[in-house]
Amino acid sequence: VDEETYAKTAAGSSETRGPTIFDKIISKEIPSSIVYEDEKVLAFRDINPQAPVHVLVIPKLRNGLTQLGKAETRHAEILGHLLYVAKLVAEKEGITDGFRVVINNGPTACQSVYHLHLHVLGGRQMKWPPG
Ligand code: IMP
Repeated sequence: VDEETYAKTAAGSSETRGPTIFDKIISKEIPSSIVYEDEKVLAFRDINPQAPVHVLVIPKLRNGLTQLGKAETRHAEILGHLLYVAKLVAEKEGITDGFRVVINNGPTACQSVYHLHLHVLGGRQMKWPPG
């Protein structure tokens, strides 16, 4: 979509969405503690950590996915890359003995930012089931 359509579109479509705080983190308009970055994804520390290590991994696609539930076949490659980067983050953070990868999808799962993201959590004993 063009710049104007992008700016006007509300969240919720698999094709377009309004800007979120994560767009400002990608553009470095808002500072973040970056753990890993490449041309496709950015990984940075969660501002409200739920474990000693809590990193978010997000795609850089500006008009990309709002949530996992909107994924289409063409998103398979970026979804795979996000998961692989979650593993790289776990290695970098020294939590390979045990870590958790979470995607909150939609209001019932308490998703609060509508730009797809993986949570990578570790550094403490996890419990199951999660809340
Ligand atoms: P969700 O609830 O699964 O959508 O996760 C959104 C996450 O983004 C939450 O864990 C928030 O703490 C985190 N978050 C929101 N704003 C910022 C920020 O500006 N920097 C880093 N993390 C943020």
